Amino acid sequence: MPERATRSVHDLQLWVGACVRAIADAARGRHVGSVVLGLGRDVDPARALAAWMALADDPALVGASLRCVPNTHVLVCLDCRHEYQGGRLARCPSCGSSALAVAPTPPVTVIEWAVAGAPIGEGTVNRPRAQDESARGRTLARDGS
Ligand SMILES: [Zn+2]
Repeated sequence: MPERATRSVHDLQLWVGACVRAIADAARGRHVGSVVLGLGRDVDPARALAAWMALADDPALVGASLRCVPNTHVLVCLDCRHEYQGGRLARCPSCGSSALAVAPTPPVTVIEWAVAGAPIGEGTVNRPRAQDESARGRTLARDGS
């Protein structure tokens, strides 16, 4: 019994760790502002959050907000091969077919993520200076007129 619980926590860390690496790679040095993880039915959101806090140590992910949502089924249209998420009875949004296959969903998957804005090492240093200069420029222009 304890062995099984330990193993599921370990599995969860593997899945969350894979999500962390995937986002950090895709962010390519930009700060990530928000992440939405899809969790399978048997995944405890509190455990997923704890795993995220322990694993998201990449500079790109520091300060990123995390939201967990239930992971819905991935459906595959047998007529046009379109993939989408939805209930088992949903029709294909692409061609309207009801011939669907349900693809296996991972326990933890990235639903979406967003970049916070400025690349790491830029923006925080460069942007205020640029704003200062433009503000000064405007002041000078106003003084001169
Ligand atoms: Zn279709």
